[in-house]
Amino acid sequence: MGEDTAPHPDYPSYRVEPGRPIRLADLNPGDTNGWTDRDAAGHEAKQHRKRIEDLQERLYAENIQSLLIVLQAIDTGGKDGTIRNVFSGVNPQGCRVWSFKQPSAEELEHDFLWRYHRRTPERGMMAIFNRSQYEDVLVVRVHNLVPEDVWRKRYSMINNFERMLTLNGITIIKFFLHISRDEQRRRLESRLENPDKRWKFSVGDLHERLLWDRYQQAFEDAINHCSTDYAPWYVIPANKKWYRDLVVSRIIADTLEAMRPEFPSGADINPAEITIPA
Ligand code: AMP
Ligand code: MG
Repeated sequence: MGEDTAPHPDYPSYRVEPGRPIRLADLNPGDTNGWTDRDAAGHEAKQHRKRIEDLQERLYAENIQSLLIVLQAIDTGGKDGTIRNVFSGVNPQGCRVWSFKQPSAEELEHDFLWRYHRRTPERGMMAIFNRSQYEDVLVVRVHNLVPEDVWRKRYSMINNFERMLTLNGITIIKFFLHISRDEQRRRLESRLENPDKRWKFSVGDLHERLLWDRYQQAFEDAINHCSTDYAPWYVIPANKKWYRDLVVSRIIADTLEAMRPEFPSGADINPAEITIPA
């Protein structure tokens, strides 16, 4: 890494502080905090991934606490790529990914949080929500799937839900992958042009793109209402995928470290008294 590519030593936290509402339009999706060298960034991201792998092993062995990672973004925002890149080295046995699509008939028969609550991580586990309870104040709001007096009450219901989970040993972090409108156009074009990516293209995404401003407003409100001390939102500059991966992996590694997962001591076992049968 050359001098001129060295990043600013202090990372912005990208965390949204309760009581200090953000405006998405003021946050630059193309920010790289001084990084220009994607290889150097990739090298550092790799170190964070290693930290995540080691800490996840402890979390699993400890079997007391768990970690819930929420990923939200506009279409093409990079949720799938983030999961692929950041969690590539994690032991699959200790980590589950749940993707939430249009609710099924059965799910619609329940309160809106039911399907998410069923998927929260067991002790020792990490769970990734690819879309989440926030869809019920995002797509649901933008498309008027329920009246405003119904979705508006959901911010506090989500906060209470997340509070309850954290009091039960689940650490929660939430990422909004922030891309620009131009970047979305580029990504949609590349899905069209590239035969290996075309399966990801959906004509419906073009319709959603026309609702860009309404989605930004819905994301902004959800983030501002629901970034709490116990379940913070992070707004990640995500135009540059390599910078997005660096920041997300760093925040997850730091969060896991703060949880201080420990291997069980094994104090009830005295190796001197044990003979392994021949
Ligand atoms: P994809 O992630 O591209 O497979 O698309 C999943 C679709 O499910 C997206 O269009 C979401 O907006 C939609 N979706 C997810 N959760 C909900 C929800 N609670 N209500 C309505 N649509 C949803
Ligand atoms: Mg899609």
